[in-house]
Amino acid sequence: MNDAVHILLAVLLVLVFRRRSLHDLLAAILSVSLPMSDHYLITPLISFGFLSATPIWTHRSITHSLLAFIVVVLVFHYAGYAFSSLLGYSAHIIPDFFFGGVKLFLPFDPTVYGFNLRSGVVESIIGLCFVVIVLYEFTKFSVRRFMV
Ligand SMILES: [Zn+2]
Repeated sequence: MNDAVHILLAVLLVLVFRRRSLHDLLAAILSVSLPMSDHYLITPLISFGFLSATPIWTHRSITHSLLAFIVVVLVFHYAGYAFSSLLGYSAHIIPDFFFGGVKLFLPFDPTVYGFNLRSGVVESIIGLCFVVIVLYEFTKFSVRRFMV
């Protein structure tokens, strides 16, 4: 699924669950973005020879596992934003689970779990729906209230 759609979904979940502080929003956006590090951090490290291309470091692997999910939520728990982090990380892992699958149980089991509902049209429609819903949710409250 497109990275922007993941982020929009995280924002939507934060709004729907009434976590309307800026810190909650940032925690969710950071959490939804962390699994993307396999594209933007790990892949270049493999390309330059700093990491070996094992199944743990491929796309949708360790960063998309339940272990990473738990670690990230625990880290945010200590900062007081566990629920927002949970929303954000879920906004990444659950759609990936349905659109191609993820290696949920790495490093213990390299099996890909999930479904392959991949379709450019379906993903585009879902992304468009998220954009509309997020824009609608943003119209329901003032920016000043959000910043508190
Ligand atoms: Zn992903």
